[in-house]
Amino acid sequence: MREAYLIPETLEEATALLARYQGRARVVGGGTDYFVDEAHNGAPVLIDVTRLRGLREIREEHGYVFIGCGVTHAQIAASALLQQSGTALVEACGQIGGPQVRNVATLAGNIAHALPAADGTLALLALGGEIQVAWHAEGELRAEWWPLARAFKGPGQSAVDSTRQIIAAMRFKPTGAGEASAFARVMRPQGVALPIMGVAARLKFDAEGRIEAAAIATGPAGPVPFRAVQTEAFLIGRMLDEATLDEAAQVLLGEVHVRTSPHRATAAYRRAVLPVLLRRALTQCATRAQRTLAIHER
Ligand SMILES: Cc1cc2nc3c(=O)[nH]c(=O)nc-3n(C[C@H](O)[C@H](O)[C@H](O)COP(=O)(O)OP(=O)(O)OC[C@H]3O[C@@H](n4cnc5c(N)ncnc54)[C@H](O)[C@@H]3O)c2cc1C
Repeated sequence: MREAYLIPETLEEATALLARYQGRARVVGGGTDYFVDEAHNGAPVLIDVTRLRGLREIREEHGYVFIGCGVTHAQIAASALLQQSGTALVEACGQIGGPQVRNVATLAGNIAHALPAADGTLALLALGGEIQVAWHAEGELRAEWWPLARAFKGPGQSAVDSTRQIIAAMRFKPTGAGEASAFARVMRPQGVALPIMGVAARLKFDAEGRIEAAAIATGPAGPVPFRAVQTEAFLIGRMLDEATLDEAAQVLLGEVHVRTSPHRATAAYRRAVLPVLLRRALTQCATRAQRTLAIHER
């Protein structure tokens, strides 16, 4: 039975409310995951964090791109700043659900739900993202930045305790000259379930066109959103030619753990589409990175 649905205006107020209810209240964003499953985890008090001052926007701050917890997927998909500095996120969030879902669902909620195939989460992981976790202790607002990977304990299990902590914001370093990101996925056409497979990549190229830095995230490829560290290491120092793309796909298939899920796809199908998605994401990165150099040379 719901006792209250509270809409605080500041982060301090929101964390103080969580502390006051001592585990009986739960943070909620757009509610697109929470209300689907409320019968299981209904909390007596909900604290809506989509209207907190200063946390409803996307901005550049101290050399990072900063995204507040109230920011929706629709805002991300329409952001010119993100299109330029974190394209993978625009592509991932722009494909989540349909317009109704994207208009209310948040990236913070996508992360807190902790599913290994969550689109926005995979994109932020490849971008090298961090989350700001906030809570109340000894009468004060406390907050610290975590690397995104620290947020996940298992499928649907977050290290952020949404009855005591709030993901207040996300941030990442913007892509610069010779650098770009991309996201590719396969999904059933009705678009109301989780993706069959997704790949996000961030690549940086040196002056000779060799890969200088690589980050690849994919899912569902394990119990938590998966960083493909072996594939990343393989790519460093190489040109992104046909041989590299083929070999990278083999390395990736060697390090992921894909399985059959009854409503989505077989493991064999997932293994068949993974190289296609990897190729798509990496070649998009290369094309976009080339464009950034052309812009800088002008
Ligand atoms: C029809 C439909 C289609 C969908 N399609 C996709 C898809 O294609 N790809 C995809 O990845 N997802 C999809 N989803 C899942 C969902 O929309 C996303 O995961 C969304 O980003 C969740 O955000 P939200 O703000 O609605 O989270 P909520 O439902 O509000 O919350 C989800 C969980 O996170 C916690 N939480 C929320 N915000 C915070 C916060 N700031 N700090 C701490 N804890 C928090 C809540 O307590 C809850 O446990 C779909 C959902 C529906 C209903």
